[in-house]
Amino acid sequence: MIIVLFGPPAAGKGTQAKRIKDKHRVAHLSTGDMLRAAIAQGTDIGKKAKALVDGGLLVPDDVVIGIIAERIESEDCAKGFILDGFPRTLGQASALDAMLAAKKRSVMHVILMDVDQSRLTKRVETRVAETLARGEPVRPDDSLDKFKERLKVYNEQTLPTLPYYEAQGKVRRVDGMQTIEGVGAQIDAILSDEKSGKMGARP
Ligand code: AMP
Repeated sequence: MIIVLFGPPAAGKGTQAKRIKDKHRVAHLSTGDMLRAAIAQGTDIGKKAKALVDGGLLVPDDVVIGIIAERIESEDCAKGFILDGFPRTLGQASALDAMLAAKKRSVMHVILMDVDQSRLTKRVETRVAETLARGEPVRPDDSLDKFKERLKVYNEQTLPTLPYYEAQGKVRRVDGMQTIEGVGAQIDAILSDEKSGKMGARP
């Protein structure tokens, strides 16, 4: 089961990816988390990525494609995985298809988290307040101006990837404005339809 969670920043992809991971026992691959870890560790990739990540801009395709290509070789990805924040460009989407085809695997669903973008800013403000209340550091790219930049990057560079997956008949939409449980139930319905064969067999 290889799932792509697709949607703008603060749509709740990370939260839902963790739910799916726990429920279906598949790996959760977040390129954002991997890049933040590389930055924290001060690796070469981290050093190259820091200014871009902090500024809300995309890291070059070859960097994230390399990270994912290495990660999916791990044993915990054998059963399946959820991609959260990858692919973000057409180049990443086609590279993903090529690397999966070489393993005779393919993306099963692209789950689009449909959200009202005008309400996302409020979500980010809440996320920042909650993080501060826990005494944890706030992500540099969660400031309001950086968040607006991330949304612009999504609309200009990531959203145009959707027709690529629509042409493959893989896009499933969920109403991302519902509660965490409500969104999770919609995703579970999509995944259980697949398991029970209602969507037809897919490789
Ligand atoms: P996220 O945690 O998914 O919101 O990602 C945080 C930041 O990491 C993004 O704003 C980008 O700077 C970088 N990033 C994460 N995933 C990708 C990707 N697939 N392609 C390029 N940059 C990425």
